[in-house]
Amino acid sequence: MTHRIAVSILVSLLLLAGPAQSEVTLVHAGQLLAVPGEAPLSDMTIIVENDRITGVQRGFVTADDATVIDLRDKFVLPGLMDMHVHLQGELGPDNDRDQLKMSDQLMQMRSAYYAMNTLKAGFTTVRDVGSSPQEMYALRDAINKGWLHGPRIIAAGGVGITGGHADISGVSPELMEMFTSPNVCDGPYDCRRAARNVIKYGADLIKITSTGGVMTERATGTGQQMEMDELREIVKAAERMGRKVASHAHHEDGIVAALEAGVASIEHGSYTGPRAIRLFKETGAYLVPTLLAGKTVATLAVEADFMAPEVREKAIRVGNDMAGSFEKAHKAGVNVAYGTDSGISPHGDNAQEAVLMVEAGMSEMDVIVTATLNAADLIDMSDSLGTIEPGKFADIIAVDNSPLVNIEALLDVNFVMKGGKIYKQ
Ligand SMILES: [Zn+2]
Repeated sequence: MTHRIAVSILVSLLLLAGPAQSEVTLVHAGQLLAVPGEAPLSDMTIIVENDRITGVQRGFVTADDATVIDLRDKFVLPGLMDMHVHLQGELGPDNDRDQLKMSDQLMQMRSAYYAMNTLKAGFTTVRDVGSSPQEMYALRDAINKGWLHGPRIIAAGGVGITGGHADISGVSPELMEMFTSPNVCDGPYDCRRAARNVIKYGADLIKITSTGGVMTERATGTGQQMEMDELREIVKAAERMGRKVASHAHHEDGIVAALEAGVASIEHGSYTGPRAIRLFKETGAYLVPTLLAGKTVATLAVEADFMAPEVREKAIRVGNDMAGSFEKAHKAGVNVAYGTDSGISPHGDNAQEAVLMVEAGMSEMDVIVTATLNAADLIDMSDSLGTIEPGKFADIIAVDNSPLVNIEALLDVNFVMKGGKIYKQ
């Protein structure tokens, strides 16, 4: 009885106190690109409560008990989003040795370090499209719980074919046997099983490789590898369970096949010709260009000495062809979402892609749109990410000068807020 009275007193006290006071933060922005694609506004205040933006007002608003963040001499924009990263590693001469000597646990901690570098560079959301899946799901969940500092991660599970780009290569047969993924499949039914399997274990999307790839240590080319029936089954199985499919693809035959099967994005798209462009526009699928990966592998192939001969040839060829293909595609009006393939390049250098996109003829504003609105649309999060508007997550970054004048301003992000929490100031 006493217990029940105590509970009822407690309830009335809580009612008197009203709902828990939310903390209000007022961000004073000298210049604010609230909605990429529209002109920036001067002297604005962003109101942040808990993890969300609750208002955007003209002038520098103040209020009692509110925390004020002074970015009056900065250019403020939505957190950037990278749709193609591999947080588990970084390409370099020690890759093979690390695989043999590092424990899984140590590798996991390294991934957390890479995630932190990515966030500090102003990338508040990423899509990881190829790491050890369980490791990446755990990192995603740990960041979401607030245990680690990193970007919001949309994590892919990979499905690939025997001997294809997603399968293991370049090690002894014994090691290949040990490390072959259960999601390597052949034929439509086996690939349907694999697609369901990656969803079962926690994938937010499915990553496939419809063509060969540069880093495969076999001279199997960069043309189409997966068959139409396999592609269709994977996309259908994914769709039934509410997942999208992203396909790595270099040559046009593989781009066309993947688009015909219904993938949501083509990664790299190094040889996007007229047939592919027509299909991109018909389907509305996104091209994720990864010019930074092309430039990095082409440079390393010439300047460093660790690539297998099979890889080196592809790196120089594909690396040098990517930018021209991207230029044609975006001029033709293909939807583009920002992606770097970081992990080929160092994590934290993600904004270098923006510089390469501008060099390839895209306007500074359009580049920022690809890394905000378009990326948010690709991951079906337009209602909560991509702009600085009421109702969205408070993912806000700042740079010293306008990236609309010089895109290189994005290389030095000096303020990062994700979900209302400040990670760099
Ligand atoms: Zn990649």
